[in-house]
Amino acid sequence: MIPAELIKKKRGGSELSENEIQSFVNDYVSGKIADYQMSAFLMAVFFNGMTGKETWFLTQAMLHSGIVVDFGDGITRIDKHSTGGVGDKTSLIIAPLVAAAGVQVPMISGRALGHTGGTLDKLESIPGFNVWLNLDAFKSMVKRLGTCFIGQTAEICPADKKMYALRDVTATVECVPLICASIMSKKLAEGIDGLVLDVKTGRGAFMKTAAEAQNLAKNLITVGKQGGKKIVALITDMSQPLGLAVGNSVEVAECLEVLSGKGPQDLRELSLELSAHMILLGKKAKNLEGARKTATALLDDGSALKRFQEIVSAQNGNLKQLPKAKFVYEVLANRKGFVKTLDAEKIGIASLHLGAGRMKASDQIDPSAGIILRKKISDQVLKGEVLATLFYNNGDSLEKASQLVRDAFLISLQKSRRPRLIIKVMK
Ligand code: URA
Repeated sequence: MIPAELIKKKRGGSELSENEIQSFVNDYVSGKIADYQMSAFLMAVFFNGMTGKETWFLTQAMLHSGIVVDFGDGITRIDKHSTGGVGDKTSLIIAPLVAAAGVQVPMISGRALGHTGGTLDKLESIPGFNVWLNLDAFKSMVKRLGTCFIGQTAEICPADKKMYALRDVTATVECVPLICASIMSKKLAEGIDGLVLDVKTGRGAFMKTAAEAQNLAKNLITVGKQGGKKIVALITDMSQPLGLAVGNSVEVAECLEVLSGKGPQDLRELSLELSAHMILLGKKAKNLEGARKTATALLDDGSALKRFQEIVSAQNGNLKQLPKAKFVYEVLANRKGFVKTLDAEKIGIASLHLGAGRMKASDQIDPSAGIILRKKISDQVLKGEVLATLFYNNGDSLEKASQLVRDAFLISLQKSRRPRLIIKVMK
């Protein structure tokens, strides 16, 4: 296969065969195809899309670029994946909660991406927390404690690792077949039987409209089913951040609140609903209502919190010493009224400027930097009241960050409705 010929075929809008896609991906992973050729291919896909068949072949090629975890014991395992958002910290609540319900959750997570946060960075803000367990340690912890949090190892989907890094810097992230193959290849490699997808929509999501999110969900479900997995997708709101905390250690602290039966209502509600779908797929409840009851009971009786503490200590973390930022800055309301919109993307970028995310892959994250929102959509605001508290150690970008937070809030005299958190459930 001549790489330029294949790129030309895709550029012209023709359908590629399984063999063509497989060879192209394999040759890229082995270094026979250069980054610039893969970049051109990705851009051709970005503009021309892929057929269902091509998306499946790409997923398969990426999946088999590495190993597929095999627990070898026939136990049902279910995972959850979010397409990415701001303040989206449900994994830290869901994994121990669902594990406490008796469903094993082999969770391989990612890092912060653009303005969106990453589970691995949040966990690493816990002093000592080790996300780099090898696969044997991962498997044995999943069997012993029901879950384990690790990062994508070199053995799992190396094609996605290389292709994703390239997409991030070549403006080819927001492309349904590429997102689909990227997410599903990693999830199919985890050794799961089922998957609950949290497909985000709104200003803070990659899919800005509900229609785009539903289209992505439809494609993800198709690929998941082709891979023999049970799949449910929830389309959920990301027009405003989830919960109040945005950053890393501030988000861990908020998860501890929810695990203690407190915390913001939206975060609790979404965590419970996603958990219930996982418990149902994992056959630990007869119906969704029963699964909801199980999830609520395990959250309220402290079982989920206890399991989270066990997992953190098994991975060497110390929850008693969550880092705190040195400086605090409050953004105040310059008028009275009600919060009409709260732009999740702007809040995500502001948090990134404070040090909670990365401008480029090699940047170090400041684990204690972040934002705590004091108001959300529909809340009443008095002039001079605090809208958000910014936490930081390095004030170089404080002005930019605080301006973004100010711009994120639109205050009007009329009270508006809270956005619906769970927009649709798709199977
Ligand atoms: N998350 C992923 O893992 N891959 C994508 O392409 C987008 C979000």
